[in-house]
Amino acid sequence: MALILIWTAVLYELNRSEKGYLREAEIKTSIQSQVFTEFSRSTIRRVNEVILDIRTQWTGDWKSFATLIQRRQGIIDDLTFQVTVIDSDGIMIFSNLAKPATRVDLSQRVHFRVHKQAGDADHLYISTPVLGKVSGKWSIQFTRPILKNGKFNGVLVVSVSPDLFSQFAEKLQLGKGGSATMVKTTGELMARYPITSFSQGAIPNDRLFLQDDSPTSGNYRSLSSVDQTERIYGYYKLPQFGLVYVVGESVNDILTPYYAYRSLVLEVASGVSAFAIIMFIVLLRSLTTLEKVRGDLELAKERAESSNIAKSQFLANMSHEIRTPMNGVIGMAQILMDTDLDEDQQQFVQDILTSSDSLVSIINDILDISKIEADRMEYDFHPFTVDDLTNSVNSLIKVKADEKGIGFNIDAAPDTACIFIGDSLRIRQILLNLAGNAVKFTERGEVRIHIKRKPDGLRFEVSDTGIGIPMEAREKLFSNFSQVDSSTTRKFGGTGLGLAISKRLAEGMGGKIGVNSTEGQGSTFWFELPLASPPDQEDETNSGYAESVPTPAEVQDVTAPTAPEPDFQPASPLPDESATVNKLPYLLLVEDNKINQKIAMSLVRKLGYEVDLAENGLEAIAATGKRRYELILMDMQMPEMGGVEATRNIRSLGGPNALTPIIALTANAMESDYEACRDAGMNDFMTKPINREALIECIARWSGLTASRSST
Ligand code: ADP
Repeated sequence: MALILIWTAVLYELNRSEKGYLREAEIKTSIQSQVFTEFSRSTIRRVNEVILDIRTQWTGDWKSFATLIQRRQGIIDDLTFQVTVIDSDGIMIFSNLAKPATRVDLSQRVHFRVHKQAGDADHLYISTPVLGKVSGKWSIQFTRPILKNGKFNGVLVVSVSPDLFSQFAEKLQLGKGGSATMVKTTGELMARYPITSFSQGAIPNDRLFLQDDSPTSGNYRSLSSVDQTERIYGYYKLPQFGLVYVVGESVNDILTPYYAYRSLVLEVASGVSAFAIIMFIVLLRSLTTLEKVRGDLELAKERAESSNIAKSQFLANMSHEIRTPMNGVIGMAQILMDTDLDEDQQQFVQDILTSSDSLVSIINDILDISKIEADRMEYDFHPFTVDDLTNSVNSLIKVKADEKGIGFNIDAAPDTACIFIGDSLRIRQILLNLAGNAVKFTERGEVRIHIKRKPDGLRFEVSDTGIGIPMEAREKLFSNFSQVDSSTTRKFGGTGLGLAISKRLAEGMGGKIGVNSTEGQGSTFWFELPLASPPDQEDETNSGYAESVPTPAEVQDVTAPTAPEPDFQPASPLPDESATVNKLPYLLLVEDNKINQKIAMSLVRKLGYEVDLAENGLEAIAATGKRRYELILMDMQMPEMGGVEATRNIRSLGGPNALTPIIALTANAMESDYEACRDAGMNDFMTKPINREALIECIARWSGLTASRSST
């Protein structure tokens, strides 16, 4: 395409330039032909004057005439080389070149016959060049009749060499291929530069100036009949003498500078074209290389993605593997805590529990980030209130703030007091993370949470009066493992994952997150989430957004006053332990791990339950066929038969426990695991390591309803 453009431009330019040179030549030859004409006109005039002058001196006496001519010779030398007198019979009676005795018959010459025929008419006649009988030279005869008593009595001839005109033409500097010609309007050649033989005959009659209706002056281009040279011609007519002056310049001469220009332009254009072709080839090669690089990158990306998936899978497996022994550590420490311990021992056990909590929260973070990176984070949207959120955040953060002696306040705008649809667990996670950080990085002053209504949801702001964050650190703040200053890690602890998780969670729920901060004065972390509100806010309990899993109310076939939290997490304050004492004494624990068995049994026994133990799914099915249980705690991964399959069987067999609440206990914490549990018919879900309070609360939630039924 570029080449076509280049060459079109080049051809256009060359054509334009060639036409320019030719046009210039036309103008030049026109002017030169006019100059040639003017010279010729004045020469003819002078010759005419000479003829008129010497004719008056002719008396018939050739001797005195010869003396006169000799005297005048100096003046007319530049014009003429011969003066002749012809008598009325055509016999030469005087010539300044011939001996007087020489008798030459000129009666057949045109210039004689013209005047003889004209009789007494006196006019100047100019002949075509004739080869002189006396001089033996070519000459143009300028003639006038000699009249005696008004009658024709002979002809006075002044012979002029055609060279007179040719020599002038030479001065026009026509270049080596140029020509200048004097022609009769009838086509006969009169004079020419460069000098040519007159025996060539007439000019071809196709020439423009020979046409009857041609203008006085003009241009044409043709091949010369004399020397076969192609020329541009300019001509000028002198009608009163029947003459035309034609000046030509060789096309070859005219176009010589154009040819030089053309070869330069062609060279440049060829160079540019070659360059373009080379560039095109280079580009093509680069594209091929690029294509290959892209292919390699694609491959590398695929590999990276699959290794990322493998990494996430590894992290998920690892967190599962760590959770199981952690379950043992925490559970055992909790049991130990309930035994008789002195103060030091109690502190030691408390330290074990605190460290374990930190470890669990790190495992949770790693699991979250691996889920997010594997794109497996799923959100569970359900109705919740801002109060639910603030209560749980308050109970966890207030303690930490009090420990550090700083203030902690949550202030929610009045118009936030309604039901929203969203993943309250994940919102709470972000809030806990931001508020936890705020407390961690604040030594004096206070931490405050503001919750405001936005047209399409809520805005949360967590402000502190802590150390603040330097400008340059803010950009990276929300990336994985980013910490402002690694010394803070030593001082405050942390993995650098909290903000990265918060950002991904906020964005995953369609929101955004950010920070404003002044170093040394404090920071405000904020996030905004789009949250829908159910249209009917009057009847909050029948909002129609409850989970699809059977609620405790459905299981118990009782219309409960409030629907339980659908996110498998306790949301209400811990119940009084005495209220959780069971009315139906039996609870079935399905668990294969000996340590977990011990922990769970010790816990539930403390709550006043009788516990039957099943070590796998098959044993669980057998046990549920024998007795009605108030609650079944079901492990997921067990030999022989896992928890999911066992639950499905218990539900489908229709035995005494077909509607008994079944709570999953598992170290697996992926969303898909929650779903598998729900699909099998489980009612709730607890992750290991089992938190004592969480288990108590969960049992209370599901068994407490029996009490509620009995009270209604
Ligand atoms: P972690 O707190 O576990 O290190 P985060 O991702 O939650 O990881 O935070 C990353 C870093 O951001 C922190 O290490 C700290 O340097 C900085 N940071 C977070 N919150 C605050 C805050 N409120 N004030 C000052 N610095 C903060």
